[in-house]
Amino acid sequence: MDEGGTVPPTPELEQKLRGARLRVTRPRLAVLTAVRDHPHADTDSIIGVVRANIGEVSHQAVYDVLRALTAAGLVRRIQPSGSVARYESRLGDNHHHLVCRSCGVIVDVDCAVGATPCLTASDDRGFTIDEAEVVFWGRCPDCSTQPHTTQSSARS
Ligand SMILES: [Zn+2]
Ligand SMILES: [Zn+2]
Repeated sequence: MDEGGTVPPTPELEQKLRGARLRVTRPRLAVLTAVRDHPHADTDSIIGVVRANIGEVSHQAVYDVLRALTAAGLVRRIQPSGSVARYESRLGDNHHHLVCRSCGVIVDVDCAVGATPCLTASDDRGFTIDEAEVVFWGRCPDCSTQPHTTQSSARS
């Protein structure tokens, strides 16, 4: 159904922008809302959601907003190898990701054990470690129940 293009008020997101010393603008709110509602979305999906909400916005504008939000620490950019950049607004809990090798779906997994960084390096080489980034690769339940097929069936 058509929602009429009205953006619901998002006081807590406005507060986040102000807290990060970013001016509150419609594109910024729309991008932040899209990332919050669609965790791990890629840029193209975010642009689609933003356009559905506030109308025409240029790709460049959305890229710029994503860069500003990432730099301000309001959005986290993740990029599993072989994947385009994805964005999420679940921050600061040092959670990790499960990635399906077959369909590319990304799922959150809570911190492995305890608090940040939740993993102990066998040798920290004198670093003060504050974060560990782990990607668990495998096949999601949907894919693992299907017979193994090669992803790119070459057609001549
Ligand atoms: Zn899958
Ligand atoms: Zn996540």
